Amino acid sequence: MIFESLSEKLQNSLDKLRGKGKITEKDLDLALREVRLALLEADVNYKVVKDFISDIKARALGSEVLESLNPGQQVIKIVYDELTNLMGEKEEKLNFSSKPPTIILMCGLQGSGKTTTSGKLAFNLKKQNKRPLLVACDVYRPAAIKQLEVVGEKVGVPVFSMGTNVNPVDIAKAGIEHATKNGNDVVIIDTAGRLHIDTDLMEEIFTIKNVTNPNEILLVLDAMTGQDAVNVAETFNEKLDITGVVLTKMDGDARGGAALSLRSVTHKPIKFVGMGEKLDQLEPFYPDRMASRILG
Ligand code: GDP
Repeated sequence: MIFESLSEKLQNSLDKLRGKGKITEKDLDLALREVRLALLEADVNYKVVKDFISDIKARALGSEVLESLNPGQQVIKIVYDELTNLMGEKEEKLNFSSKPPTIILMCGLQGSGKTTTSGKLAFNLKKQNKRPLLVACDVYRPAAIKQLEVVGEKVGVPVFSMGTNVNPVDIAKAGIEHATKNGNDVVIIDTAGRLHIDTDLMEEIFTIKNVTNPNEILLVLDAMTGQDAVNVAETFNEKLDITGVVLTKMDGDARGGAALSLRSVTHKPIKFVGMGEKLDQLEPFYPDRMASRILG
């Protein structure tokens, strides 16, 4: 279960404050030191942890919290608020175009869950009475087109493909034309992934972006990869100016560092989380609920 260890450690360190009628600055420092260690162990970015702890400390010392009637509870509330802030405060919805079709460009490394997530998103949109079209732009692996077709069939969403001998940029353009002709109001473009970021791949997605002018550029990241996911996000964001992240495999036993660092590092929201391999296991990301879950 994601955040299991972090959650346990945070609860332990904050429990020491909870019941206390009086808290000294030293008590606070001790508790925050444990919070800091727990976050670092959860693979949260070092600088994010540093700022997080100093923000909490400033708030706890600043507003006579320690002199209040229930200081422990107040400090815990501050930690909860700051955890929520760290992840983005509120749920961030998809942007839809006022003039259909809405274009959603999916990007990410191979194995992150990009194709599965494209299918999940199509299913999710279908349930909202949209008429999505999936477009297969990964021409480097014939199996990738097949995989998208299988996923499309499972969720009852059409898949547009032109095989592997056509330039992905042309496929994306043709896919959008197809959608316009056939009344599909959302186009989900599944692009190629590689095992590592490479310049050709980035250039290709950059060109697809420029040609299709997407309403959403969603970067799919594997939560299990922790700090690596954050580094990947920085690189994609620099090149593509992404609009949001989908963090997959949040059902696994990842330590959770990616979920807690992404927003601060990239200034882009996590819009959805993948909670399993099944195509109905995509959920909107609620920072406040995630913070409650972490604090137990
Ligand atoms: P792609 O190479 O980025 O297109 O990745 P795939 O969509 O093929 O997914 C790679 C693997 O991750 C597959 O085995 C998926 O079933 C699995 N996967 C994708 N999303 C999730 C998720 O949210 N949770 C879990 N547990 N597995 C996932």
